[in-house]
Amino acid sequence: MDIRFLFGFFAFWMGAIVGSFLNVVVWRVPRGMSLLRPPSTCPKCGHRIRPWENVPILSWLFLGGKCSGCHQPISWKYPIGEAAVGMLYWAIYLRVVQDDMLALSTILGWWWFAGAMLSLARIDYEKGVIPNLVTYSGVIAALLLAVIFPNGRPAIAKPGDLNLGSVLSRPVVIRLQEIGSPEVGLRLAAVADVLLGVALAGILLGSAYWLGCKMLNAWRKRHQDSAVPAEPLGWGDIKLLAMTGAFLGADACVYLLAGGALVGFVVGVVLLARRKKANGVWSSMPFAPFLAVPALLWVVYGNWFYLIFRWLAPSQI
Ligand SMILES: [Zn+2]
Repeated sequence: MDIRFLFGFFAFWMGAIVGSFLNVVVWRVPRGMSLLRPPSTCPKCGHRIRPWENVPILSWLFLGGKCSGCHQPISWKYPIGEAAVGMLYWAIYLRVVQDDMLALSTILGWWWFAGAMLSLARIDYEKGVIPNLVTYSGVIAALLLAVIFPNGRPAIAKPGDLNLGSVLSRPVVIRLQEIGSPEVGLRLAAVADVLLGVALAGILLGSAYWLGCKMLNAWRKRHQDSAVPAEPLGWGDIKLLAMTGAFLGADACVYLLAGGALVGFVVGVVLLARRKKANGVWSSMPFAPFLAVPALLWVVYGNWFYLIFRWLAPSQI
């Protein structure tokens, strides 16, 4: 059997396991519950789910989509969701191995990011919050990966590459790499690439926050409309973009913010057209799902701003 097929299958299976774990994260984290205890139970009858009933996709098929305790149906969304995360992990694996310049360890950061992003998109959509547990642990994971596998960052593998989004960090990365021994310099450069992403996210969304507050305040005063919210976005949104910058670098913050705004704008217009009245649209626009769409496309395809430009004007590049 082809070894690449085996690795591809492993990537899919890792994704399915993470997808199964994300169901636990999405349910427990916003409720302040521990991820480890108590063990999972059937929400209908309290039947404790045994290890062999917890195998992604297969258990659902084997059990015929029913709980073995109370025989109530288990939603088909679980195996489909697990398979979808499996496909995403498989696509990320393919993207990394198809690029000769990227180290295999690049997969680790992108897998972590994809899992964290998917869980935040679902939690934000369902509950309207972005838990610190996910964003903070994401930034810490990105820093640790930069120290352990500095070559796993595209900015180190290909400084200045537009398609990988490592243009902004290039001057810093190139200089830091020359400090000390190559081993030390490489790690310094990788950590700087993480911190640059976090810092740019803070500057971009921080200034958007400040400007948005001023505009909303002016609007509320002029129209005497108390339904207008005081803040354009929450601190959770800023932490979400900081985590994105930590994993994907500073360039990604700029592009993905524009992409997220575009997706948000299109969805907002559709909602307005469907509801006719603007009521409700003001308040409930979760940011994470809108950012997740361009961010996951970025991870799977590369810098699609650059790709679209190259497609439109191949002679310019
Ligand atoms: Zn049950």
